[in-house]
Amino acid sequence: MTAQKARVIIIGAGFGGLNAAQTLAGQAVDVLVIDRNNFHTFTPLLYQVATSGLDPSEVVYPVRQILQKASNIDFLMGEVVSIDHTAQQVQVRTRAGERTEPYDYLIIAAGSVTQYYGNEAIARNAFGLKDLKDAVVLRNHILSQFEQAAWTDDIDHKRALTTMVVVGGGPTGIETAGALHELYHYVLRHEYPEMNDLTPHVILVEASDRLLAAFPAPLRDSARQQLESLGVEIVLGSAVEHVDAGIIRLANGRVIPAHTVVWSTGVAGSPLGRMLDVPLALGGRVPVLDTLEVHGREHIYVVGDLAYLEDESGTPYPQVAQVAIQQGKRAAHNVLRRTENAAENAFQYRDLGIMATVGRSRAVAWLGNRVPLTGFIAWVVWLGLHLVWLIGFRNRASVLVGWIWNYLTYDRSVRIILENTTRHIPANLPETQ
Ligand SMILES: Cc1cc2nc3c(=O)[nH]c(=O)nc-3n(C[C@H](O)[C@H](O)[C@H](O)COP(=O)(O)OP(=O)(O)OC[C@H]3O[C@@H](n4cnc5c(N)ncnc54)[C@H](O)[C@@H]3O)c2cc1C
Repeated sequence: MTAQKARVIIIGAGFGGLNAAQTLAGQAVDVLVIDRNNFHTFTPLLYQVATSGLDPSEVVYPVRQILQKASNIDFLMGEVVSIDHTAQQVQVRTRAGERTEPYDYLIIAAGSVTQYYGNEAIARNAFGLKDLKDAVVLRNHILSQFEQAAWTDDIDHKRALTTMVVVGGGPTGIETAGALHELYHYVLRHEYPEMNDLTPHVILVEASDRLLAAFPAPLRDSARQQLESLGVEIVLGSAVEHVDAGIIRLANGRVIPAHTVVWSTGVAGSPLGRMLDVPLALGGRVPVLDTLEVHGREHIYVVGDLAYLEDESGTPYPQVAQVAIQQGKRAAHNVLRRTENAAENAFQYRDLGIMATVGRSRAVAWLGNRVPLTGFIAWVVWLGLHLVWLIGFRNRASVLVGWIWNYLTYDRSVRIILENTTRHIPANLPETQ
């Protein structure tokens, strides 16, 4: 009689979950991947969807297609609504009704959500950029502001409609601010002659005194210069205090009339972490052992943005894709080792470096935390690495053609306003997440 295979459930088909699943493909375990979406999202290019540079379909890929060759892996599209760690089962809300799915091992890779620091007004009025829907909603909003401004006589109102404030000086904030400025400068300015009497304004606000805090000083300075040379106004050392419809107020007292605030600062661990009923670490992340198993929750592993683990120097691993990818693989290997009664291995991070594009022909990169690159060469490296990293040949080919087209023509062709997309406004924000 053959022993029954262990059943592994993976929650989330993002960077962590997908890499865990791919590691378990063809192994002697049964795997069920659960995600509320039937697609994997390539988040590093979401800002290009929001700024009309790429079509939504170019940055996502169907999960079933990615996993179709692995006969030991099933996919369930649904929302995980509870986890019973004693009975070892998860409750999933699917289109076919609620299901209870038992597991022997659980790998949770549910990612993170936008952190509004308990501020209802900001959550209600600012635009997050966490997933595909956020990106499409933001694109709709930006384009709608221009349609409205074109038929508005009041010059102050017109200016507020076309002023865009991006909050957060990390890579996503910088990339979004640069791309927004280019969208105005190269495209919308020419298409809205009614706007010739004012210059659309992009303002990047960062609470600390520096952009790109994780980069070395020369690269931080370069990013700032490149962004300023583009025409983006940078406000450092002032937090956003309040966002209302049409107004943003900074801690330094400045009031900016603007109808578009992109909130790209702060992330909190997915609310799913609370289902484990363990004390959470800073930012709502789940503390894990170096094997990635949850403290006090045997057989449950957490990886990626939701996991809290410190390196040898006591610094938490950052919430970036490479950490999620490598943790997903490590957790899956450790599950396999458990099924073979072998000792588990500790997670060891291989830091491949960080990079951010600032706009057309502008970027900074810190490769392998050793090689600094700036300007055009950094931008070409950024393009190349993101193309290789993107899932699916069709997506790569299509994005490459789109980038070449945009570069040669300065076009941003995906300027479509879809009426039926509405923002998700988080309810009952906790004071600290
Ligand atoms: C706009 C943006 C740009 C970024 N750019 C970069 C970059 O350039 N480089 C970089 O390294 N990192 C970047 N990041 C960070 C990177 O995306 C994350 O670190 C990474 O995605 C984390 O992987 P993960 O597997 O933990 O979560 P995710 O990749 O977010 O995946 C989580 C998955 O869980 C699913 N899920 C969540 N809750 C449930 C539930 N209750 N039920 C069912 N399914 C659920 C979600 O649908 C999602 O598919 C960026 C992030 C954003 C938002």
